[in-house]
Amino acid sequence: MARSTQRPKFIFVVGGVLSGVGKGVSSASIGAILKAKGFHVTAMKADPYINVDAGTMNPTEHGEVFVTDDGDETDQDMGNYERFLDVDLTSINYMTTGRVYQTVIDRERSMGYKGKCVQVVPHIPEEIIRRIKRAQQHSKSDVVIIEIGGTVGEYENILFLEAVRELKLHSPEDIAIVLVSYLPVPGHLGEMKTKPTQHAQRALNQTGLHADMIIARAPIELDEVRKEKLAMLCGINKGYSISAPDVESIYEIPLKMEEQDVGNKLLKVLHLKPRKTNLEAWKKFVAGIKHTKKDVRIAVVGKYFGTGDFTLADSYISVIEATKHAAQFNKVHAVLEWVDSEEFETNPGHLQHLKKYDGIIVPGGFGTRGIEGIINTIRFARENKIPYLGLCYGMQLASIEFVRNVLGKTGAHTVEADDSAEHPVIHVSPFQKANIQANRYGGTMRLGAYDCALRKGSLARKAYGQDIISERHRHRYEFNDAYRKEVDDAGLRIVGINPETGLVEIVELADHPFFVGTQFHPEFKSRPMRPHPLFREFIRAAAK
Ligand code: GLN
Repeated sequence: MARSTQRPKFIFVVGGVLSGVGKGVSSASIGAILKAKGFHVTAMKADPYINVDAGTMNPTEHGEVFVTDDGDETDQDMGNYERFLDVDLTSINYMTTGRVYQTVIDRERSMGYKGKCVQVVPHIPEEIIRRIKRAQQHSKSDVVIIEIGGTVGEYENILFLEAVRELKLHSPEDIAIVLVSYLPVPGHLGEMKTKPTQHAQRALNQTGLHADMIIARAPIELDEVRKEKLAMLCGINKGYSISAPDVESIYEIPLKMEEQDVGNKLLKVLHLKPRKTNLEAWKKFVAGIKHTKKDVRIAVVGKYFGTGDFTLADSYISVIEATKHAAQFNKVHAVLEWVDSEEFETNPGHLQHLKKYDGIIVPGGFGTRGIEGIINTIRFARENKIPYLGLCYGMQLASIEFVRNVLGKTGAHTVEADDSAEHPVIHVSPFQKANIQANRYGGTMRLGAYDCALRKGSLARKAYGQDIISERHRHRYEFNDAYRKEVDDAGLRIVGINPETGLVEIVELADHPFFVGTQFHPEFKSRPMRPHPLFREFIRAAAK
């Protein structure tokens, strides 16, 4: 698409008061609206932590690690941008403080600063600006939306804000700043309070910036009185206080924003002419969700504990969204329930409780905790013909279950859990062995998109309608070729193979309504209006 503005425009989205109130979805929704106005839009996330990527962070503390096609381990918000904008992003769209510093230090080591004293200011903001401009150039976008992690007033993100200040100094007409703030309604007062948001705007002012628009996240709608109060006390134009109450489905948010003309208001800040928005597809999608009556109950079985600040919904957000997209396609409503696999280790009788579910998902995971409970779950799904979708670990453990209980090799295991397993059905490649021995954990898994050739006549082949597909990976262990033929002959068909390496990518049961395990993570590529084929068929089977 040709660029439709003369100069690229940048919208920065910052947070106030609390994090975790929907800054990512707000950014993604603004992007969706501008895209629906015909602009070419891309999005970026700037995360304040020192980690070079999200791959080394515990998902129960930080949320899901979202993997891009080019194998970057990023923040879960990148998934929101991909889903709302229907684009594939890359590592160019993601930066952390660690990554920015790493580049500057590497450049210094190679004399890139030609003998100058390298300083936090100006060199760090300069590198941040370089990355923002690179993302714009790479995608040839009219508008780049940049979400800055955390909240204003923290030490952590100050250099990102300084970069915005400098950028704005050079091209004030090309920058808009949106503050996503939380407006509490204290129970004993029963009234929405704007004061914390006023403080957030002031904290932003101290960095030399001023929000043009405030998105007021709250349990309820922002009333006229508070809209005016926010406008006056935070010094924004009337009409730029945007009501953003909790909604049933996040996919309503672009519509809610569009009702308040958020898109054209931002265009005005960016010195662009107003444009019509075509959100018909979104409207249809949201109306579909609202009219869906039939429930399908899905158990998501894994090891769940100590989720810190984040909830399970954060750790598995792409799985949840992919399930919702597929459910909407099949005109059902997916009710996901988190089932702790450890329960089936201490009380195997409780497996019977799984009968009430229409389908079972075992999502990705690491480590040994709860693993036997997951294997028991998979056996239950296989024997009772409950639709089963195994994602990464869910595929590896399904293979182990099959070798143990169908082939009778009780010593089958993954070397991740038992490095001297009698039957290492899931093992580690020599290449990965070296990484583990040298403690090289950051960015060394099998990451990103790889091709997969599908076997003719398989369920997977029918679902995709293609011979070769490409899917995203994030794992260290692999199916051991030594067990391939036996497993396949006995009925757990190896139906997806990487054409270059011969690695096993998909297994499926021949004699079962739906039993599929993937070494990759299909959930990363599902889009609201383009559900992933395997999720789509899984939900179809579950709805039967
Ligand atoms: N722990 C397994 C591995 O590293 C599976 C990883 C996952 O489920 N993402 O191979």
